[in-house]
Amino acid sequence: MKNRVPPLSPTLVKKILNRYDLHLAKGFGQHFLIDDNIRRRIIEAARLQPQDHVLEVGAGIGTLTVALADKCRQVTAIELDSKLLPALKDTISPFNNIKVLATDAVKLSLADLGIGATLPNKLVSNLPYNIAAPIIIKYLENFSFLNTFTVMVQSEIAERILAAPGRKKYGAYTVKLEFLAASRLVLKLSRDIFLPPPRVDSAVVQFKRRDVKFDSQARQLFKLIESAFSQRRKQLVNSVNSGLNIEKAKIAAALTTLDISADIRAESLSLDDFIDLYQLLYRL
Ligand code: SAM
Repeated sequence: MKNRVPPLSPTLVKKILNRYDLHLAKGFGQHFLIDDNIRRRIIEAARLQPQDHVLEVGAGIGTLTVALADKCRQVTAIELDSKLLPALKDTISPFNNIKVLATDAVKLSLADLGIGATLPNKLVSNLPYNIAAPIIIKYLENFSFLNTFTVMVQSEIAERILAAPGRKKYGAYTVKLEFLAASRLVLKLSRDIFLPPPRVDSAVVQFKRRDVKFDSQARQLFKLIESAFSQRRKQLVNSVNSGLNIEKAKIAAALTTLDISADIRAESLSLDDFIDLYQLLYRL
C-alpha cells in the first residue's frame, strides 16, 4: 500500500520531478521543501486540529499538502502552474480531503473557494516568494475567516513583518500588518532545505488575526499610514500634508496633543501612535 505521507527528502522530490519531467520555473518562485524535519516543525507550529480546514497557497507537487491533509479535516490547495498538476494529483491521490484549485492565489476570491462551502480557517504555505508579501496582507484584509497564518517567506519579508519602530525595515507594511494580526518568528530556515536552493534565506512566520474589522475606518487609517511613510526622509507633517491634503497646522496640533515632537518621521511612530493620530485628525 502507498505510504500516504512518505518521508520528505531530496530523493523523493527529485524522483517526482523526474517522473513528470518537470523543470522548475523561476518566475513561479518554485523552491520545493525537501526537509522532513522542517515540514514537521511547520505543521507543529500550525497546531492543526482534526476539524481544521487548511488553505495552502502554492501546493507545488503536493509534498506539504499531504502532510497537512493527514492532520486536519480538509485542505484547499491552490496551484497556478498547470504543468505541476499531474504530479500534484498523483501525490495527493491517497487522500479524499484535498481540493485543488488551479488558479492565481493573488486573485483568489470568495467565489473561487465555493459559495456555501465551508471556508478554510488556517493558512499554511511555503509561499511563492515574489507574491508572498501581497498575499499575506490581501488575505488578512479580505479573508476574515482565516484566523492563523503559518507561512514560509524570504528573510527580507520576515524582517519587514517583524521590524520594530525605528528600524530600517519598519514601514507601512509592518504597521498595517500589526493592526490586523499579531506576528511572531517561528523558525529561521537555511537555503539548502529547498530544491533548488533560493539565493536568499527564509523564515517561518506566524500571524494570529486580531479582533478588528477591515472596514472603511481601517482603510482610512491605512491611507494615513501609507502617506506618512510615502516619503520616509520627510517629516510626517509634510508627507501627510502632501499625501492626504490635510493642513499642516492641523497635523502639528494633533502631534502636540499626543505629546509627539512636530518634526517626527513616520518610522518613529508605533501602531498605537498612528491610531491616536488618526482619531484626532478625523475627529472620532
Ligand atoms: N508547496 C511546495 C513546497 O513546499 O515544496 C511548493 C512551494 S513553492 C515555494 C511555491 C509554489 O507556488 C510553486 O509550486 C508555484 O508554482 C506556486 N505559485 C506561484 N505563483 C502562484 C500563484 N500566483 N498562485 C498560486 N500558486 C502559485
